[in-house]
Amino acid sequence: MLYIQSFTFNPFQENTYIIINDKKQCWIVDPGMYDNNETKLLTDYISSNNLTPQAIINTHAHLDHIFGINPLLKQYNIPFGLHKMEKDVLSYAPASAAMFGVSLATVPTPTFFIAEGQPLMLGDDTIEVRFTPGHSPGSIIFYYAPGNWAIGGDVLFSGSIGRTDLPGGNFNTLINSIKTQLFTLPGHTTVYPGHGPATTIDTEKLHNPFLQDWPCTTSSLPFNIGTTGCKSGVAQYSISLSRP
Ligand SMILES: [Zn+2]
Ligand SMILES: [Zn+2]
Repeated sequence: MLYIQSFTFNPFQENTYIIINDKKQCWIVDPGMYDNNETKLLTDYISSNNLTPQAIINTHAHLDHIFGINPLLKQYNIPFGLHKMEKDVLSYAPASAAMFGVSLATVPTPTFFIAEGQPLMLGDDTIEVRFTPGHSPGSIIFYYAPGNWAIGGDVLFSGSIGRTDLPGGNFNTLINSIKTQLFTLPGHTTVYPGHGPATTIDTEKLHNPFLQDWPCTTSSLPFNIGTTGCKSGVAQYSISLSRP
Protein backbone atom coordinates (compact mmCIF):
# COMPACT_ATOMS: atom_id res chain seq x y z
CA MET A 1 0.00 0.00 0.00
CA LEU A 2 1.13 3.53 -0.75
CA TYR A 3 0.68 6.50 1.56
CA ILE A 4 0.90 10.24 1.01
CA GLN A 5 2.56 12.92 3.10
CA SER A 6 1.94 16.52 2.07
CA PHE A 7 3.86 19.76 2.54
CA THR A 8 3.14 23.31 1.39
CA PHE A 9 6.11 25.36 0.23
CA ASN A 10 7.30 28.57 -1.46
CA PRO A 11 5.69 31.98 -2.10
CA PHE A 12 3.04 30.30 -4.27
CA GLN A 13 1.88 27.93 -1.51
CA GLU A 14 2.58 24.89 -3.65
CA ASN A 15 1.83 21.38 -2.39
CA THR A 16 4.77 18.97 -2.42
CA TYR A 17 3.94 15.31 -1.81
CA ILE A 18 5.90 12.26 -0.70
CA ILE A 19 4.55 8.86 -1.76
CA ILE A 20 5.70 6.14 0.64
CA ASN A 21 5.43 2.34 0.42
CA ASP A 22 5.52 -0.34 3.13
CA LYS A 23 9.29 -0.78 2.68
CA LYS A 24 9.82 2.94 3.40
CA GLN A 25 10.86 3.63 -0.16
CA CYS A 26 9.50 6.92 -1.43
CA TRP A 27 9.03 9.23 -4.36
CA ILE A 28 8.99 12.98 -4.05
CA VAL A 29 6.37 14.66 -6.22
CA ASP A 30 6.71 18.31 -7.34
CA PRO A 31 9.41 19.40 -4.85
CA GLY A 32 8.69 23.10 -4.35
CA MET A 33 11.07 23.95 -1.48
CA TYR A 34 12.16 27.55 -2.00
CA ASP A 35 14.99 27.90 0.54
CA ASN A 36 17.24 25.87 2.85
CA ASN A 37 14.69 25.89 5.65
CA GLU A 38 12.00 24.36 3.47
CA THR A 39 14.45 21.82 2.05
CA LYS A 40 15.45 20.88 5.60
CA LEU A 41 11.81 20.38 6.57
CA LEU A 42 11.42 17.82 3.79
CA THR A 43 14.77 16.07 4.20
CA ASP A 44 14.32 15.93 8.00
CA TYR A 45 11.00 14.20 7.44
CA ILE A 46 12.70 11.72 5.12
CA SER A 47 15.56 10.96 7.52
CA SER A 48 13.51 10.87 10.72
CA ASN A 49 11.13 8.36 9.11
CA ASN A 50 14.02 6.31 7.67
CA LEU A 51 12.70 6.76 4.13
CA THR A 52 14.75 5.92 1.06
CA PRO A 53 14.04 8.31 -1.83
CA GLN A 54 13.90 6.50 -5.16
CA ALA A 55 12.97 9.25 -7.60
CA ILE A 56 11.49 12.68 -8.13
CA ILE A 57 8.43 12.72 -10.36
CA ASN A 58 6.65 15.88 -11.49
CA THR A 59 3.10 16.55 -12.60
CA HIS A 60 4.43 19.47 -14.65
CA ALA A 61 7.38 21.87 -14.75
CA HIS A 62 6.06 25.26 -13.64
CA LEU A 63 8.59 26.97 -11.44
CA ASP A 64 6.61 26.64 -8.20
CA HIS A 65 6.83 22.85 -8.64
CA ILE A 66 10.56 22.67 -9.42
CA PHE A 67 12.25 25.06 -6.94
CA GLY A 68 13.35 22.18 -4.69
CA ILE A 69 14.51 19.63 -7.26
CA ASN A 70 18.22 20.45 -7.58
CA PRO A 71 18.97 20.33 -3.84
CA LEU A 72 17.33 16.89 -3.69
CA LEU A 73 19.25 15.64 -6.74
CA LYS A 74 22.45 16.75 -5.04
CA GLN A 75 21.58 15.13 -1.73
CA TYR A 76 20.12 11.82 -2.90
CA ASN A 77 21.50 11.22 -6.41
CA ILE A 78 18.12 9.99 -7.65
CA PRO A 79 16.46 10.25 -11.08
CA PHE A 80 14.06 13.05 -11.95
CA GLY A 81 11.27 12.45 -14.43
CA LEU A 82 8.36 14.24 -16.04
CA HIS A 83 6.43 14.16 -19.31
CA LYS A 84 8.54 15.03 -22.34
CA MET A 85 6.02 17.70 -23.40
CA GLU A 86 7.17 19.71 -20.37
CA LYS A 87 10.70 20.26 -21.75
CA ASP A 88 9.80 23.71 -23.12
CA VAL A 89 8.07 24.68 -19.88
CA LEU A 90 11.21 23.75 -17.99
CA SER A 91 13.41 25.91 -20.21
CA TYR A 92 10.94 28.79 -19.83
CA ALA A 93 11.23 28.64 -16.01
CA PRO A 94 13.89 31.39 -15.64
CA ALA A 95 11.75 33.83 -17.69
CA SER A 96 8.76 32.81 -15.62
CA ALA A 97 10.71 33.48 -12.42
CA ALA A 98 11.55 36.99 -13.65
CA MET A 99 7.89 37.57 -14.51
CA PHE A 100 6.72 36.50 -11.04
CA GLY A 101 9.58 38.31 -9.29
CA VAL A 102 11.12 35.26 -7.62
CA SER A 103 14.59 33.79 -7.85
CA LEU A 104 15.39 30.50 -9.53
CA ALA A 105 19.09 29.70 -9.33
CA THR A 106 19.25 26.71 -11.69
CA VAL A 107 16.81 24.66 -13.75
CA PRO A 108 16.96 20.90 -13.11
CA THR A 109 17.59 18.50 -15.99
CA PRO A 110 15.24 15.52 -16.32
CA THR A 111 16.94 12.12 -16.34
CA PHE A 112 13.91 10.20 -17.67
CA PHE A 113 10.54 10.87 -19.23
CA ILE A 114 7.20 9.60 -18.00
CA ALA A 115 4.65 8.55 -20.61
CA GLU A 116 0.90 8.33 -20.12
CA GLY A 117 -0.37 4.78 -19.87
CA GLN A 118 3.03 3.54 -18.76
CA PRO A 119 2.67 2.39 -15.15
CA LEU A 120 5.15 3.61 -12.54
CA MET A 121 6.32 1.03 -10.00
CA LEU A 122 7.33 1.97 -6.47
CA GLY A 123 8.45 -1.40 -5.14
CA ASP A 124 5.47 -3.70 -5.74
CA ASP A 125 2.91 -0.90 -6.01
CA THR A 126 1.71 0.46 -9.33
CA ILE A 127 0.74 4.04 -10.09
CA GLU A 128 -1.23 4.89 -13.22
CA VAL A 129 -0.13 7.92 -15.25
CA ARG A 130 -2.85 9.93 -17.01
CA PHE A 131 -2.13 12.67 -19.54
CA THR A 132 -3.98 15.86 -18.61
CA PRO A 133 -2.74 18.80 -20.74
CA GLY A 134 -4.34 22.25 -20.72
CA HIS A 135 -2.78 24.01 -17.73
CA SER A 136 0.57 23.10 -19.24
CA PRO A 137 1.24 21.02 -22.37
CA GLY A 138 2.65 17.95 -20.62
CA SER A 139 0.67 17.84 -17.39
CA ILE A 140 0.16 14.36 -15.97
CA ILE A 141 -1.60 13.01 -12.90
CA PHE A 142 -0.59 10.06 -10.73
CA TYR A 143 -3.49 7.75 -9.84
CA TYR A 144 -3.27 5.03 -7.20
CA ALA A 145 -6.47 2.98 -7.36
CA PRO A 146 -5.94 0.82 -4.21
CA GLY A 147 -5.63 3.97 -2.09
CA ASN A 148 -8.42 5.83 -3.90
CA TRP A 149 -6.28 8.90 -4.57
CA ALA A 150 -4.68 10.86 -7.33
CA ILE A 151 -2.03 13.57 -7.27
CA GLY A 152 -3.39 16.05 -9.76
CA GLY A 153 -0.95 18.95 -10.05
CA ASP A 154 -2.58 22.19 -11.22
CA VAL A 155 -5.32 20.61 -13.32
CA LEU A 156 -8.25 20.52 -10.88
CA PHE A 157 -8.53 22.38 -7.57
CA SER A 158 -11.16 22.42 -4.86
CA GLY A 159 -13.73 24.69 -6.50
CA SER A 160 -11.47 25.83 -9.31
CA ILE A 161 -9.22 24.78 -12.17
CA GLY A 162 -5.69 25.59 -13.33
CA ARG A 163 -4.98 28.79 -15.24
CA THR A 164 -4.61 28.38 -18.99
CA ASP A 165 -2.99 31.66 -20.05
CA LEU A 166 0.65 30.60 -19.58
CA PRO A 167 2.69 29.28 -22.57
CA GLY A 168 1.26 26.01 -23.85
CA GLY A 169 -1.98 26.38 -21.89
CA ASN A 170 -5.40 25.89 -23.44
CA PHE A 171 -8.77 26.22 -21.73
CA ASN A 172 -10.75 23.75 -23.83
CA THR A 173 -7.92 21.21 -23.61
CA LEU A 174 -7.93 21.55 -19.82
CA ILE A 175 -11.68 21.07 -19.50
CA ASN A 176 -11.44 18.05 -21.81
CA SER A 177 -8.61 16.59 -19.70
CA ILE A 178 -10.64 16.97 -16.51
CA LYS A 179 -13.76 15.45 -18.04
CA THR A 180 -12.02 12.51 -19.74
CA GLN A 181 -9.12 11.77 -17.35
CA LEU A 182 -10.30 12.87 -13.88
CA PHE A 183 -14.07 12.64 -14.00
CA THR A 184 -13.71 9.05 -15.23
CA LEU A 185 -12.08 8.09 -11.90
CA PRO A 186 -14.33 6.65 -9.16
CA GLY A 187 -16.32 9.43 -7.47
CA HIS A 188 -14.81 8.79 -4.04
CA THR A 189 -11.24 9.28 -5.35
CA THR A 190 -9.39 11.94 -3.35
CA VAL A 191 -7.55 14.44 -5.52
CA TYR A 192 -4.44 16.00 -3.99
CA PRO A 193 -3.91 19.21 -5.98
CA GLY A 194 -0.88 21.40 -6.54
CA HIS A 195 -2.42 24.19 -4.45
CA GLY A 196 -5.03 24.30 -1.72
CA PRO A 197 -6.89 21.50 0.07
CA ALA A 198 -7.61 18.00 -1.20
CA THR A 199 -11.01 17.33 -2.73
CA THR A 200 -12.89 14.42 -4.29
CA ILE A 201 -14.07 13.74 -7.83
CA ASP A 202 -17.72 13.68 -6.72
CA THR A 203 -17.40 17.02 -4.90
CA GLU A 204 -15.97 18.72 -7.97
CA LYS A 205 -18.50 17.12 -10.31
CA LEU A 206 -21.26 18.55 -8.15
CA HIS A 207 -19.90 21.92 -7.11
CA ASN A 208 -16.98 23.06 -9.27
CA PRO A 209 -18.35 26.10 -11.13
CA PHE A 210 -16.03 25.57 -14.09
CA LEU A 211 -17.35 22.12 -14.77
CA GLN A 212 -21.09 22.69 -14.77
CA ASP A 213 -22.91 22.90 -18.08
CA TRP A 214 -24.59 26.21 -17.36
CA PRO A 215 -25.43 28.46 -20.27
CA CYS A 216 -23.07 31.36 -20.60
CA THR A 217 -22.89 34.17 -23.10
CA THR A 218 -20.51 36.66 -21.55
CA SER A 219 -17.54 36.35 -19.24
CA SER A 220 -15.42 38.73 -17.23
CA LEU A 221 -12.59 36.23 -17.12
CA PRO A 222 -9.42 37.00 -19.08
CA PHE A 223 -9.99 34.19 -21.56
CA ASN A 224 -12.80 32.49 -23.42
CA ILE A 225 -14.53 30.35 -20.85
CA GLY A 226 -16.81 28.65 -23.36
CA THR A 227 -19.97 27.21 -21.89
CA THR A 228 -18.77 26.60 -18.37
CA GLY A 229 -18.00 28.63 -15.31
CA CYS A 230 -20.86 31.06 -15.22
CA LYS A 231 -24.55 31.23 -14.54
CA SER A 232 -27.10 33.44 -16.27
CA GLY A 233 -24.45 34.82 -18.60
CA VAL A 234 -22.37 36.38 -15.81
CA ALA A 235 -19.11 34.89 -14.60
CA GLN A 236 -19.42 34.07 -10.92
CA TYR A 237 -15.98 32.70 -10.18
CA SER A 238 -12.40 33.34 -11.10
CA ILE A 239 -9.20 31.39 -11.51
CA SER A 240 -6.17 32.38 -9.42
CA LEU A 241 -3.75 34.21 -11.70
CA SER A 242 -1.31 35.00 -8.89
CA ARG A 243 0.64 31.75 -9.31
CA PRO A 244 1.90 29.60 -12.19
ZN1 LIG B 1 1.42 25.45 -9.29
ZN1 LIG C 1 1.32 25.08 -12.75
